[in-house]
Amino acid sequence: MAGQTNHPIDEKRLWDALMGMAQIGATAKGGVRRLALSDVDRRGRDAFRGLCEAAGLTVRIDAIGNMFARRPGRDPKRLPVLFGSHLDSQPSGGKFDGALGVIAGLEVMRSLNDHGIVTEAPVELVNWTDEEGSRFGRSLLGSGAWAGLYSLEDAYAMRDPEGVSVGEALDGIGYRGAEPAQVFPADSYFELHIEQGPILEREDKRIGIVTGAQAQIWYDAAVTGQDSHAGTTPPSARKDALVGAARIIDLVDRMMRARGEDGRGTVGQLFVSPNSRNVVPGEVKFSVEFRHPEETELDRLIAQFPREAGFIARDCGVDFQLTPLFRNPAQPFDPACIALVRDASARLGFSSRDIVSGAGHDAVYVARHIPTAMIFTPCKDGLSHNELESILPEEARDGCQVLFEAVLARANRIV
Ligand SMILES: [Zn+2]
Repeated sequence: MAGQTNHPIDEKRLWDALMGMAQIGATAKGGVRRLALSDVDRRGRDAFRGLCEAAGLTVRIDAIGNMFARRPGRDPKRLPVLFGSHLDSQPSGGKFDGALGVIAGLEVMRSLNDHGIVTEAPVELVNWTDEEGSRFGRSLLGSGAWAGLYSLEDAYAMRDPEGVSVGEALDGIGYRGAEPAQVFPADSYFELHIEQGPILEREDKRIGIVTGAQAQIWYDAAVTGQDSHAGTTPPSARKDALVGAARIIDLVDRMMRARGEDGRGTVGQLFVSPNSRNVVPGEVKFSVEFRHPEETELDRLIAQFPREAGFIARDCGVDFQLTPLFRNPAQPFDPACIALVRDASARLGFSSRDIVSGAGHDAVYVARHIPTAMIFTPCKDGLSHNELESILPEEARDGCQVLFEAVLARANRIV
């Protein structure tokens, strides 16, 4: 390790625990399939709970299955410092997305024990339920219910493709807990996560100091022209919805690129009708999303895109309709918590850079109520939501050490 710490975490124990969790739901290609509230998730939770209790932590479960493992502080009146992530995975997910933050959090607890440290404030490790959303269709389910973004009743009623509801699945694995699933007073929240993108690796930085999450807007778009015979309809008579859509898709890409490396604009779904090779397409429906770290820049996109897409549609002789689905504001993280991450990383001698989270994370919802920061570590080729997702043991160690230092500093701060 480049810099100094008086309290090194145990790299081998951290890596062994990560590999142990990766055994639960392990896939043939080296990934993990641990779908939220499945029997495999139950096994992961049970194992995690056992490790927490063996480390002397007290585990509570709330009504949406979020798990909280507490280590008492010297001053019981102090609010707890929270940290964690999620143990559920994508259907063909990797070993580190989510698991890194939870298992590194466990290592923080074990290292506090090893070093005989009594923190002033209690510290509490969290495993949020169903971050991925790949089974019941809504990501950040546990942290969202906890943060009050939707009601517990709505969450319980959501069903997977087999018709099993969240409520039934929670009961099925025995993780519908007694604690209310709602925000409780807490001092702060820290989440360590793999970047899931290429920036840290490309710039050879060890730590990403996450300053917040970007704003986003999602739309459904529809272009309507007229179906006609591919052989008999001359250019002057065509109302080709797919040509209109293609030019609008190009507009999405151009508007993104006009904003440099911070821009995001994606059309990921396209439905062509009638989708026949000798018919000029009469209707195309597609998705559009834009994201940007700055709210004002998203405002500009929202003002500009419908107008320019409308001009393109008119030139193509087709109709264009745009339906906004939702807009999420940019979520800045807490300056004091960010500073603790930055200080820890600098003290330890790690190369770092500020970074805005491109993906959704539990921390984004927690940050609506509680001072929050995140720490990113690189992942190989920026690859995630993939069985080949991979990090190095020393990358896990260094991210965990930054988490440890930030949590310790926050729990011992003078209030
Ligand atoms: Zn994740």
